[in-house]
Amino acid sequence: MTINLLDLDAAALTAFFADQGEKPFRARQVLRWLHRFGQADFSAMTDIARSLREKLEVLTVVQPPPVIADRLADDGTRKFLFDVGGGNAVEAVFIPEEERGTLCISTQAGCALDCSFCATGKQGFNRNLTVAEIIGQLWQARHALGAWPEHPANGERLISNVVLMGMGEPLANLDNTVRALRLMLDDNAYGLSRRRVTVSTSGLVPAMDRLRDECPVALAVSLHAPSDALRDELVPINRKYPLRALLAACQRYLERAPRDFITFEYVMLDGVNDSDAHAGELLALTREVPCKFNLIPFNPFPGSPYRRSPATRVRRFAEILLAGGVVTTTRRTRGDDIAAACGQLAGQVRDRTQRSRRSFVLELVPQGARA
Ligand code: SAH
Ligand code: SF4
Repeated sequence: MTINLLDLDAAALTAFFADQGEKPFRARQVLRWLHRFGQADFSAMTDIARSLREKLEVLTVVQPPPVIADRLADDGTRKFLFDVGGGNAVEAVFIPEEERGTLCISTQAGCALDCSFCATGKQGFNRNLTVAEIIGQLWQARHALGAWPEHPANGERLISNVVLMGMGEPLANLDNTVRALRLMLDDNAYGLSRRRVTVSTSGLVPAMDRLRDECPVALAVSLHAPSDALRDELVPINRKYPLRALLAACQRYLERAPRDFITFEYVMLDGVNDSDAHAGELLALTREVPCKFNLIPFNPFPGSPYRRSPATRVRRFAEILLAGGVVTTTRRTRGDDIAAACGQLAGQVRDRTQRSRRSFVLELVPQGARA
């Protein structure tokens, strides 16, 4: 079977070259060509012996997920849609800011966890993304933005941060997520610091412990409610891993985390979880956990039963948390005009090949629609 080299982290690449009777430093060289320079053409890998290049040509491919849409919003936010086969697509969003550039990437096509306010959840679960599909989003975004070290835009630092907050639950696809994270951190690949890579989870407790042991990076936890009764409703996985267990896992995570706090994400749903009382309960609940809060104004999508909390309510909620001594930020909504905001990522394509074999058309299906 042909091997997609983008599926292999440093360890796997070393094992692959060992199988071929090659020295371990070959793995490092190829890793650098692929992930430091974005090179997919073996003939350009000039420090590698021709015979080995020819072998790679036969045995392997370099295959990131193809970009099928690339849209730029008025505020500079850029959304990429990737074809991952079988009529599925996933999205990544690049968010430029003064001091940094953040790429938000996906880890699954769809999501099985069915949070009540999430467009991805409403789409249902399709499958886990492969390592090549996860790291390939960063690879493709770097190509689109000219974010390689030798590019004239000198954009190596253009993507300074990566957040796994796109479609899917990263910790439900832990093995592939960890391999992709290792590539992001590897000095021969993207060389990002652990503090600049953030995994967001809805709270899969055993997998949080594994992430801590296998590849600790910054952690964001989607809290969204101060009580089990309400969280059971909004984030159904809470029925399996209730708040007490979740907060204990946060404490354990902090023992090895690259940052000394957990970020709690909190989606602001009008009249549901946004009262003064809720803010007070949150302070009491999280008293023992070093944390920051990130309030996310709800991003509506067709068919969702919720409304976004008014700006004054969000401000008041933030003030209560701040007065309680917790650093609290409110996420600015970006890329509104291209539906690139948090929780709106529901990219789907309908494969029309059935109807017309000759004209292969991938059609974007509107948000919230099921193919
Ligand atoms: N599955 C992971 C990561 C992807 S979702 C998780 O749930 O944490 C990234 C963030 O977007 C989560 O905090 C999620 O709760 C939030 N989110 C989902 N739908 C949203 C919506 N419609 N509006 C605002 N935030 C949303
Ligand atoms: Fe899945 Fe996260 Fe959406 Fe919940 S919020 S359904 S865990 S992607």
